[in-house]
Amino acid sequence: MRIDIISCVPQLMTSPLSHSILKRAQDQGQLEVHVHDLRDFSINKHRQVDDYPYGGGAGMVLMVEPLAKCIRSLQTERKYDEVIYLTPDGTSLKQGIANQLSLKENLILIAGHYKGIDQRARDIFVTMELSIGDYVLSGGELPALVLVDAIGRLIPGVLGDETSALTDSFQDNLLDAPIYTRPADFEGHEVPEILLSGQHKKIQEWRDERSLEKTRERRPDLIDED
Ligand code: SAM
Repeated sequence: MRIDIISCVPQLMTSPLSHSILKRAQDQGQLEVHVHDLRDFSINKHRQVDDYPYGGGAGMVLMVEPLAKCIRSLQTERKYDEVIYLTPDGTSLKQGIANQLSLKENLILIAGHYKGIDQRARDIFVTMELSIGDYVLSGGELPALVLVDAIGRLIPGVLGDETSALTDSFQDNLLDAPIYTRPADFEGHEVPEILLSGQHKKIQEWRDERSLEKTRERRPDLIDED
């Protein structure tokens, strides 16, 4: 899978893409991430990409022309499945959306900044708008990275068995069961005996019960989604 991210502060993206699972996915060739500096597509020598909002008001707006230039230059190279704008007023990102996007081949992600991007860029180019939660961040770089991580770890072969995504929270609309590792007794706090029993069927039943119990208690809305 290839993901192209458009940002006016690409430096914000370097570290999360250079470590751990996202690095491994790129090293193994399962994921290609290209970050594009919107300023390289500016319409003047000042590398300007933002301007004052029509009608007045606080905050700058990312201009449509640099975004159009950048998106069009990418689209001449290959066909994209989705052009996604990360925005607080978008559809809430859920595991199901990440699952679906992990099956795509080419995605463009647009990280906004300041007050956001010119509405015409949304109208003309964007095919999907996603929010990572009901709060406002300064830029779309972190949301874009959240999306890349959520998608990247689902690409077949990226996670080893030790971190299988299928048993994580939200798959099957359930929260994950409690987990433990050594020591079996920490200052009198013992690991549930069943986990030490070696009885795999019983252990799975215990995990399923805890998972359902936790979901009922914390996120009954997930169970109601069925
Ligand atoms: N004026 C916008 C609004 O009220 O909806 C907020 C703009 S925000 C300060 C700047 C950029 O950060 C947005 O264009 C978007 O790309 C990104 N952003 C902020 N919060 C976000 C969230 N919860 N989900 C996704 N993107 C977000």
